[in-house]
Amino acid sequence: MEKIRLIAYNGLKAKIIDNSFCTECGACEAACPTHALKVNNEGVSRLFDCSEILDLCPICYEVCPHSEALLLRSLEPLSDAPVRSEAVGYFRKILLAQSNDPKKREQTHDGAVVTTLLTEGLKDKILDSAVVTQTEDANPIKPKSQVAIFQEEINKSSGSKFFPSSVIKAYGDAVLNYHRKNIAVVGLPCQVLALRKIDAWKHMISGKAKVIIGLFCFGTFSSAPFLEYIEREYKIPPSEIEKMHLSKELIVETKKGVIGIPMSEVKQNILPSCKTCIDYSAEVSDISVGSGYPLKDWSVVIIRTKAGEDYFNAAVKKGVINTRDIQDEPEVFERVIIAALQKRTTGLIEGSKLEKSHSYVPIRVIRETELMSTVKVEDIMTKEITTVQSNMTVCNLLKIMATKAHAGYPVVEENGELSGVVTIEEASTVDKSLRGSTLVGSIARKNVDICYPGETVLDAFRKMSQLETGRIIVLDPENPKKMLGIISKRDIMHALVQQASEVEHI
Ligand SMILES: Cc1cc2nc3c(=O)[nH]c(=O)nc-3n(C[C@H](O)[C@H](O)[C@H](O)COP(=O)(O)OP(=O)(O)OC[C@H]3O[C@@H](n4cnc5c(N)ncnc54)[C@H](O)[C@@H]3O)c2cc1C
Ligand code: SF4
Ligand code: SF4
Repeated sequence: MEKIRLIAYNGLKAKIIDNSFCTECGACEAACPTHALKVNNEGVSRLFDCSEILDLCPICYEVCPHSEALLLRSLEPLSDAPVRSEAVGYFRKILLAQSNDPKKREQTHDGAVVTTLLTEGLKDKILDSAVVTQTEDANPIKPKSQVAIFQEEINKSSGSKFFPSSVIKAYGDAVLNYHRKNIAVVGLPCQVLALRKIDAWKHMISGKAKVIIGLFCFGTFSSAPFLEYIEREYKIPPSEIEKMHLSKELIVETKKGVIGIPMSEVKQNILPSCKTCIDYSAEVSDISVGSGYPLKDWSVVIIRTKAGEDYFNAAVKKGVINTRDIQDEPEVFERVIIAALQKRTTGLIEGSKLEKSHSYVPIRVIRETELMSTVKVEDIMTKEITTVQSNMTVCNLLKIMATKAHAGYPVVEENGELSGVVTIEEASTVDKSLRGSTLVGSIARKNVDICYPGETVLDAFRKMSQLETGRIIVLDPENPKKMLGIISKRDIMHALVQQASEVEHI
């Protein structure tokens, strides 16, 4: 029998790696059951062909933060957050905070909230480790992800590094090699999303993060091109750069002095994924932390989950973190909201531009937005539907799945009537030896997720969220067995991209 291989690496390579959308988080390496992948500052390399070991594996593509998989499920930990903001997502509270230790604050140029939260967690044994980003001793701007177990390792991680760090690879290391169970993970929004995807997948390394601290993020740079840019435009060779930090500009400290690079210039040099990224404030973290600019020595903190709230309040109660009401500083609050909304709009517009030249563009619509309530399902649904027959064998279904890009298919009877849906999840439950004799109709899910053409995209998105699915079938309200189309998260993303482009042109 012909060998069918449905290996996620093929999608990861074609869509993410070859299109230069990788941000080196290391989630694919940490999650790969065959240990076939290696992630470092050069990107992802494949050590051997994993399809020689497994013939059906969806993992590395699904946990990649730039794939469209598992987005809705990654939002689940936020489900009891009482407030939703168009700009910064779901949260419980936004406030200003700082470490009560001035030495720590001086080191970080911000409130040193993250370092203090990690320090206290380790001291009180709430944590047994923290996944942080330090720099290499020989190269003070080159990030190095690290499993920190001792206080000195936390101290060494303070301050921001503006090149990608393989945070999720280090998380995998903490679980598998250091056997840690109560880990704090500090990461950028995409790294936090990758970790939530691993949890949503219920992967063997999932569920060990006690608290996930996300950093606000405008983007990261590919090191060589950005360092060349600084050398060309500012006559500073990489060897002279000692530190970078954010204020109104990107401040570069050198052996000879300090320069400021305007954010407009900085943003031109960020990675391709960062250009299409719409998450400024790490929307799926437990606690998000960003700069309190223009205030000196203060950070903005967004508490999102109950776990985050309990962890943060414990540090405040101990007196190691000072807090203030953000309403007292409207300028700081306004800066955060504007930066977050701008990143959202710019990301969608950049995504729409890249779609002309790329076969795939990562646009991560995690949550509902107001724009969705202005578009109807019938205006954006895909009308040409690829269906599969219920009397087809699983073997033939896998052949179709291997050649077409879709992950799920409506199942129809001989008379064309809808009888269920089937995805790779159902197909993978059938033993290899039985794939030639098992019929699709016998494994298809009978409870089909549906909506109607007159409903809004917001209604459809909410159903997708509740049902934890990425696509729903659009039925004729006059004839509930007749399919009119299908609507997927990708269709919704395209509609939002369209709207963002229209807003830009007004
Ligand atoms: C690439 C990048 C872009 C940022 N963009 C913005 C922005 O646009 N607006 C804004 O308000 N704030 C931004 N920040 C966040 C800001 O610079 C501070 O990190 C944040 O305010 C926390 O300050 P702190 O003093 O509490 O952190 P500290 O106590 O100094 O702790 C810093 C923590 O950040 C982690 N870290 C450092 N670099 C990285 C990295 N590359 N990847 C993952 N983790 C890292 C370290 O492990 C450490 O735990 C950005 C940070 C980074 C790294
Ligand atoms: S999971 Fe992370 S390291 Fe792997 S391809 Fe995606 S962004 Fe790159
Ligand atoms: S801008 Fe987005 S993709 Fe880029 S590093 Fe930040 S969170 Fe990741």
